Amino acid sequence: MERREQLYEGKAKIVYATDEPDLYIQYFKDDATAFNAKKRGTIVSKGIFNNHISAKLFQVVEKQGIPTHYVKTLSDREMAVKKLDIIRVEVVVRNIVAGNLAKRMGVEEGRRLPHPIIDLHLKQDALDDPMINEDTISAFGLATREELAQMRAYALRVNDILKAFFGERNVDLVDFKLEFGRSPADGGKLLLGDEITPDGCRLWEKGTGRKLDKDRFRRDLGQVEEAYAEVERLVTR
Ligand code: UDP
Repeated sequence: MERREQLYEGKAKIVYATDEPDLYIQYFKDDATAFNAKKRGTIVSKGIFNNHISAKLFQVVEKQGIPTHYVKTLSDREMAVKKLDIIRVEVVVRNIVAGNLAKRMGVEEGRRLPHPIIDLHLKQDALDDPMINEDTISAFGLATREELAQMRAYALRVNDILKAFFGERNVDLVDFKLEFGRSPADGGKLLLGDEITPDGCRLWEKGTGRKLDKDRFRRDLGQVEEAYAEVERLVTR
């Protein structure tokens, strides 16, 4: 497969066309942003860690029946993925109170929820990714009710799979964000897209609560590279 023109550059990844019309290449950068890009920095080798972590986690969920856009790993920073028409909705799944939920509800971080919460956000940086509901998503044509039901079902299933996967590695899956898209090569079938990495997951060491995710960068906790390296080691071992 040959890399062709750059199609899109995001905060953490670059997407390239390839010589195959239904395949793209996702290139993972070291750039890190937080608070809607108001804070910017570099996490050395993050792109390599995230490429490896995401590849492994996509394979783990795919094996359990979740269709993903992952095709194969091409290099330390590149994976081949299926071309997707991305649905402009971020699906956040939460098991433990943290971040925006703690702020919104006026409670401390760390409370274990009696059941998972799914929060839906419009994927629109210029508006700060506002939270939206299913009626809004449907009324604005972002996704159909059927697609939303499928996205929710997949998100909860991914949560079960990854909670168990990280649990076996002494890590609590606190919350995470997923993105889905329609695959033109598969008749518009819904696939899990984007990435699953510590950029978009909160991961706390069981017992100590030590953070192994992007909050180390967001909150200037230090040992940022070390945390990504540790997650890579845990996930790929
Ligand atoms: N998240 C993300 N991209 C976003 C917003 C959130 O990947 O644009 C992830 C974030 O890393 C966390 C989860 O979604 O694992 C929940 O984030 P939250 O809504 O609490 O927002 P935050 O506190 O990160 O602003």
